Amino acid sequence: PFSKLSNVGTTIFSQMTQLANENEAINLSQGFPDFMPDSELLNYVDHFIQKGFNQYAPMGGMISLKEEIARKIENSHQTNYHPDSEITITAGGTQAIFTTIATFVKKDDEVIIFEPAYDCYEPTVELFGGIVKRFEMKAPDYKIDWNVVKNLVSEKTKMIILNNPNNPSGKILKENDIQELIKIVKDTSILILSDEVYENIVFDGKEHLSICKYPELKERSLLVASFGKLFHVTGWKIGYCAAPKALTDEFRKIHQFNVFSVNTPIQLALAEYMKNDEHYLGLNQFFQEKRDFLRKGLANTSFELLDCEGTYFQALKYDKISDKSDFDFAQELTVTHKVASVPFSSFYKNKMSENVIRLCFAKKQETLEKAIENLAKL
Ligand code: GLN
Repeated sequence: PFSKLSNVGTTIFSQMTQLANENEAINLSQGFPDFMPDSELLNYVDHFIQKGFNQYAPMGGMISLKEEIARKIENSHQTNYHPDSEITITAGGTQAIFTTIATFVKKDDEVIIFEPAYDCYEPTVELFGGIVKRFEMKAPDYKIDWNVVKNLVSEKTKMIILNNPNNPSGKILKENDIQELIKIVKDTSILILSDEVYENIVFDGKEHLSICKYPELKERSLLVASFGKLFHVTGWKIGYCAAPKALTDEFRKIHQFNVFSVNTPIQLALAEYMKNDEHYLGLNQFFQEKRDFLRKGLANTSFELLDCEGTYFQALKYDKISDKSDFDFAQELTVTHKVASVPFSSFYKNKMSENVIRLCFAKKQETLEKAIENLAKL
């Protein structure tokens, strides 16, 4: 009787990681690197702790970090956010997403999301009384039919949530998608929450089209990014939200009571580390090698490799191996074959199983090798 989210259980990421640990399986389920971050970055953290930066940061974040973020965005997307009034440091992408939804979504507001959808969007919208309207992207190409999306828009549409590059499908938005989106929001007051936490992990020379490149979209968007993905430090739980001042002002009204501010020495360390652009410009290539290694290793198996344009996740179709639901198949794979994955159905409200699982390739070479060896036996 007291549950505000009676249909919600423990996240699939926690479930699969627990199952992997219990079965001593190779954990390619929850998305996190199994290798060390750069020691230079770790040394900066130590430095700032020893120097005595151990008290509250300003509510919106340390200015040195916000300046570096503004510089990164300008270099990557040729657009400016004012460091002090338009960038807020958050406790990971998840808190930025939660706070954005909490700030703007009221009871009976409609929010459009694209499935497969990262798991935190929908429950958060529901928590604040919003109503989710969903467009289902389907295997194998996960294309968006914008005519269908257009029909989801009503007077009550408050927000559209984008996730580009998309976790779990690995698809990125193309120029044509963006242009269709621009047409849809034109002359409306619809806000956009753009979850771009994998922005620096895009492959084959393709371009990440951030929402902030397009003035018609930028003016209504809250852009969410994550240092966990950028510098292999998911456990530090630190990211940011960039948005025009009017939106940031509202965001911070909630942010100040949600976390107030986040980890001071880590913010300072990140600011120092970000002075060298090389620390993130090579990330595409770094992960492309891992993606290609995994794909090559699985090429001659009965798994079908779906396209992976970005993120550190590879989607696999397993129709030729089993007719189990993806949830059951992922369990079996973990228990019997010692490789943990995430079933795609967990990213759909109706739990639609298209026989697709997700593997995380942000792993050491030897981890990927062992996983390939086990998967090749199927
Ligand atoms: N973003 C990570 C993933 O997709 C999971 C984060 C979490 O466990 N909540 O696997």
